[in-house]
Order: sequence, then structure tokens, then C-alpha cells
Amino acid sequence: MHTAEIRQRWLDFFAERGHTVVPSASLVSDDPTLMFTVAGMVPFIPYMSGLIPAPYPRATSVQKCIRTLDIEEVGKTTRHGTFFQMAGNFSFGDYFKEQAIAYAWELLTTSEADGGYGFDERDLWVTVYEDDDEAIEMWKRIAGLPDRRIQRLGKADNYWHTGQAGPGGPCSEIYFDRGPEFGAEGGPAVDDSRYLEIWNLVFMQYLLDDVKSKTDFTVVRELPKKNIDTGLGVERVAFLKQGVANMYETDQVRPVLDLAAQLSGRRYGANHDDDVRMRVVADHVRSALMLMADGVTPSNEGGGYVLRRLLRRSVRSMRLLGVDAPTFTELFPASRDAMKAAYPEVETNYDRIARLAYAEEENFLGTLASGTSILDLAVAKTKQAGTRQLPGDTAFLLHDTFGFPIDLTLEMAEEAGLTVDRSAFDSLMLEQRTKAKADAKAKKTALADLSVYSDFRAKGETVFTGYEYLQTETKVL
Ligand code: ATP
Ligand code: MG
Ligand code: MG
Ligand code: MG
Repeated sequence: MHTAEIRQRWLDFFAERGHTVVPSASLVSDDPTLMFTVAGMVPFIPYMSGLIPAPYPRATSVQKCIRTLDIEEVGKTTRHGTFFQMAGNFSFGDYFKEQAIAYAWELLTTSEADGGYGFDERDLWVTVYEDDDEAIEMWKRIAGLPDRRIQRLGKADNYWHTGQAGPGGPCSEIYFDRGPEFGAEGGPAVDDSRYLEIWNLVFMQYLLDDVKSKTDFTVVRELPKKNIDTGLGVERVAFLKQGVANMYETDQVRPVLDLAAQLSGRRYGANHDDDVRMRVVADHVRSALMLMADGVTPSNEGGGYVLRRLLRRSVRSMRLLGVDAPTFTELFPASRDAMKAAYPEVETNYDRIARLAYAEEENFLGTLASGTSILDLAVAKTKQAGTRQLPGDTAFLLHDTFGFPIDLTLEMAEEAGLTVDRSAFDSLMLEQRTKAKADAKAKKTALADLSVYSDFRAKGETVFTGYEYLQTETKVL
């Protein structure tokens, strides 16, 4: 089942059940507290909070998402992309918990011939919030799940709120058991590799107050209008349905992975580190493509910097695969061709994308070339001096002046048989960050007058600014 078909089956299923199909919003979120759209519910936040009356009682979408928070997981786990598609069904004070559970179970277990995803029900497990006996009872009654395959988890895992006073509620997550070759049979509460999370159901049912942390808050009362917010990972279903090992081997991602293998002359599956690099290239090229299609331009700050970092990490990964020459002229068209059926904007905006991506690659290759000669010199000097450790200030100079990421310096030093004085490097970085913070503070004070107005404008709209995982998103890179 192709990724596009998984997406279409989703939309058809919920459209047939009275949901308005809403097209994916841009990756660049309208919400000023968010750098990117990180979940399917982001465009619906005003309806969930009741700020704006929902124009429809129920909706469905397949939303383009970027989660930079997951960047270090890419290629190492089976399931984390920096870009991915989150399918969602939403109820704004319309149906609630029982119906949400029933829909999820029906779509997952209806046979492929009858329009569902055709999972074997014996492979599905769920987690519920530990006090949500209601959800447990429903999973048993609606899905016939045995006790063993319903696991209770605490607030840290299965409770959702905004980080501020406002709506919140328990979650229930659905997992697929990949089988004994992936680990012991303990259920998703103890193993997130054998048990793959595919779908999160959020039951927005309470008004919360005194929200001090993810797990410390007070439940005030039931909400008069309860909402449903769900998110299913399209790539995760794709990798299960396509019988491949991870999301990077699915039809929309694999062509770039194969090309990275071909261009480097290395075989995918032969060496773990190389495999991770090929997956990183495939993931990052796609994410960069999608970001540029939505108007993001590489730069040194904000979303532009995230994009720059994705592009540079792709270049670096290709280099670590032994390719010094430019490869974006081949990798980007391959990613475009894999994505254009679902997202025509990658084709219509391709001139812009090509111009930006190819220039960025050329510049960074230049950076790498000049940085590499500095590094080679420093390596020779260090060896001459009879030590085996590259000084921290060399690593800092490479980072600061040549844009050399520290892990690249570490890796290249290691190849030359040296270590790096990491603690000296870290303290130089800290010094620089402290200085930058002081500068930013000075700048903020200078802008104080203006912020009065924006505070005034934001009044009454503050309820939804505190998404814990959403906010941390902006701090990652
Ligand atoms: P995980 O625990 O695997 O990191 P999550 O709990 O952070 O996932 P949610 O915030 O619940 O994910 O998002 C809803 C769904 O979106 C998940 O159940 C999963 O199927 C999918 N999803 C989340 N993050 C990613 C990602 N980085 N790449 C691909 N799919 C993802
Ligand atoms: Mg996560
Ligand atoms: Mg999770
Ligand atoms: Mg989850």
C-alpha cells in the first residue's frame, strides 16, 4: 500500500463519516509561538480553545509536519522523520471518546479490500491514562481487547495539556506489535521498538488550572464542549504495510536513500554507520525540499537556520559516505519526484528550491574545504607536538569561523587518530552563548516600547501559547 493510498484511505474513511476534509496547512505555522507545524491539530487550535467557533463540527486532515526535536533520532530509530505526515480526525464539541475509539479500531482492522488498513487485531495494543477506567472499559467493549493488551501509563506519557491553565485531558495510544524478533513481550509500556506507536487519541475533556508542569496540575471541572484530537503517523503505517524495516525505506523516501547508496558506491545494509547516513540524507533532503516548497529560505536564524542545518547535515552525511562532489542536483529531483503526486508544490516551486539548495550546497562544500585544510594543519601540529588531543580553541575556531559542526570535527579528528579537548570547546561555546544572551537582552530592552502593543494584541489569546512539546520545538536548534 503506497503512502499516497494510506493518506487517501484515511481521508475517505473520515469523509464518509461526516468529517470535513481540510487540506494540509503550510509547514510554516500561523501560530507566532511555533516555528513549524508540528502536529495535525496546530491549524485547529483556535477551534479547540473556543476562541473562534469551529466552522464544522468534525474535520479530518493529513498534515505536513516538521519536528526538529526528533533530528537526532533520524536514521537511528525506525520511526522518526524530521518531516512526516500526520493524519488526524477532530471533533469540536461533537463526538467524543467512545466514537473516537470506535473509528480508530474500525479503520485499523477493516480489511484492505473493504477500504481499511487491514491490521490483524491480535497485533494491536493500547495504552491509556492510568485513571481513565472509562477508556479501558471502551477498549474492551468496542475492540474486545484483553486486559493484557491494555496498559496504563501516567501523566508523563498519557496526558495532554497546553502547559497553561485551559483545556486538557487523557490520551490513549495505539501500538503495533512487530513480533518477538524485535524484543521481549512486555507491551508498549516497556518497549517502544518492538511495539511501534502509530496513533495517539487525545480526549480533551477537562478544564485545568495551576498547571506547574507536565505532571503537576489541578483538574477544575469537565468541559461543557469536549474535543477530540487524534494523530496517526502515515509513514509508520506505510512502513508496516509495505513490509520494510523502517520509515526511510518507504516509497516516498527510499528513492533518495537508494540514490545516496548509488552515488557513494556503498551498499545499503552492509554497514550500520553508513546505513544511518543514507537514512539521514533521505530524510533531510525530503524535509528541506518540503520546507523550501513552503517558502522557507536558508538563513542564520529561526526556521531558515533549521533548513540550513538540514541541508548541511545532508552534505556532511554524503561526505562521510565518501562523496566530495555536489550531489543535490541528483538527490533533490529524486525527492521531488517521489513527493510531487501528493504535494504538487514541490514541482511548481522547484526552480526556487533548486536555486536555493544547489547554492547552499556549493557554499557549504567551500566551507568544508577551507575548514578541512585548517583541521589538517592543526592535526599535523598536534602530532608534531607529540600529543593526541586537538586543542579546544581549534575546534571552536572551526565551528565559529568556518561553520564546522563539532561532531564533524570530532569525527575527522578521530579519523586522524586524535581526540578533541571537548571541555575546553564546551566552555568557549558557553562563553559565546552567554554573551549572545546578554546581547539579545539588550536588544529586547531597546524594543520594550513595541512589545507593549504586541502584548495588548495577544490578550485573551494566551491560553494556547504553552504547548510543552510545541514550544521546546523552537529552542532545539
Ligand atoms: P514517539 O513517541 O514515537 O516519538 P510521539 O508520541 O512523539 O511519537 P505524537 O506527538 O503522539 O508522537 O504524534 C502522533 C503520531 O504522529 C504518533 O503516534 C506517530 O505515529 C506520528 N509521529 C510522531 N512523531 C513522528 C516523527 N518524528 N516521524 C514520523 N511520525 C511521527
Ligand atoms: Mg516523539
Ligand atoms: Mg510517544
Ligand atoms: Mg504519542
